[in-house]
Amino acid sequence: MKLNALTAHEILDLIKDKQTTPQAVLDEVQQHIKQSDKDVHAYVRLAKNSNISDVSVDQNAIPIPIGIKDNICIKGEETTCCSKLLTGFKPPYNATVIEKLKASGAMFVGHTNMDEFAFGSSTENSFYGVTHNPWNLECVPGGSSGGSAAAVAANEAIWAIGSDTGGSIRQPASFCGVVGLKPTYGRVSRYGLIAFASSLDQIGPLTKDVTDSALLLNILAGHDSKDSTSVDQPVPDYTKALTKDVKNLKIGVPKEYFVEGMDAEVKASVMQSIEVLKQCGAQFVDVSLPHTEYAVATYYIIATAEASSNLARFDSVQYGLRQNPAQKRKTTLVDMYEESRSVGFGEEAKRRIMLGTYSLSSGYYDAYYLKGLKVRTLIKNDFDKAFESVDAIITPTSPTTAFKIGARAKNPLDMYLSDIYTISANLSGIPGISIPCGFSKEGLPIGLQILAKPFDEEMLFRIAYTFEQNTEWHKKKVGF
Ligand code: GLN
Repeated sequence: MKLNALTAHEILDLIKDKQTTPQAVLDEVQQHIKQSDKDVHAYVRLAKNSNISDVSVDQNAIPIPIGIKDNICIKGEETTCCSKLLTGFKPPYNATVIEKLKASGAMFVGHTNMDEFAFGSSTENSFYGVTHNPWNLECVPGGSSGGSAAAVAANEAIWAIGSDTGGSIRQPASFCGVVGLKPTYGRVSRYGLIAFASSLDQIGPLTKDVTDSALLLNILAGHDSKDSTSVDQPVPDYTKALTKDVKNLKIGVPKEYFVEGMDAEVKASVMQSIEVLKQCGAQFVDVSLPHTEYAVATYYIIATAEASSNLARFDSVQYGLRQNPAQKRKTTLVDMYEESRSVGFGEEAKRRIMLGTYSLSSGYYDAYYLKGLKVRTLIKNDFDKAFESVDAIITPTSPTTAFKIGARAKNPLDMYLSDIYTISANLSGIPGISIPCGFSKEGLPIGLQILAKPFDEEMLFRIAYTFEQNTEWHKKKVGF
């Protein structure tokens, strides 16, 4: 098999046995991108210098080519959140996750495509145009980390990182047939991640299998004094949780998630997956998450409020696109802001700025934003209660498989419903993973979501690994 089609742990074994070198792997990935990215368009920019790493390859190094979502700052490399507004922005510093990757020996392949500022579920909101799903080029890859998920699925990166505010790692992982993990809020530093909604955002891995997910989280996780919301808790070795054992674990199935609107094929695959885990000794019980129906509305109030506030910093004064008022009839500073932001932001960004500004404005703050925060607590309490009696919860990742490019673009509400199963984990801060669990008749991947208590990523790995070892889904390769 070609090197670029292997997992990171397989490559590390080959390097250890002196059967290949990190440079040979990088060459093969770059060679492959030249042929396949014309069709997939997973990358918006390829790195000029892939060796972000200062370390020489020693025993502990993990010199793996990685794709980085375009909202994670790399010093000196243009980083734009796929927004016209940030064209030309070269961060003067590295995100903490980039520093950690550097220290591990990583090789940077390029910045991957995303919905502008991570606003979306299909990668169609990118200034650079859409990414195509490697399983069917007419379909979206999901979003907003669609470029990262497609790059991994199409073997254009060995692994990648994305960010997840309401499902943006897990949903594209599910659409592209790869493994996507959203860590507990506070587990991975957000320093250098260009903020969308600061109380919801987390960076996490997109990988070809569960073992790689644990390996990559080992690199990314940990306390960071530069992020006051990162939590000072010891980081376990996640690879130790890769045990093929779910005996006597109690797993909850929330009845509120199995409702109308879910594809029959998605439901069937999730039900079959439950059977697989039952055969392995897990016990399944019904649980109730009664406030689930409010999750999407609550999310879109809180996420847009925080987004409007975070995006206020983009005034085009010190960096980013500036529309020079001198060349226009406009003259004042405010006119310059207005002109630059009107030209720089895309439609969805403007929609969210308006929604968020509205719900934060005096007179509406109590009715919308404050109410949203209260309902958020109720949603979190539902999980706390459920986790008193179960070790984990299983749901579909998304109600449907990947949809056709353009199918939901005209109707924002339709698009917002794509994340109905993933959003609650962000509102509650809990970790979640999406793993491949089947394919539709049309050959599109289906994802299974596993959720666990805060800081219990090990539980996710244990269940996901057991499932993976007892199924073949992750082995099915796309034709790239
Ligand atoms: N699709 C959701 C949104 O549009 C989630 C995005 C994300 O997780 N970044 O807000």
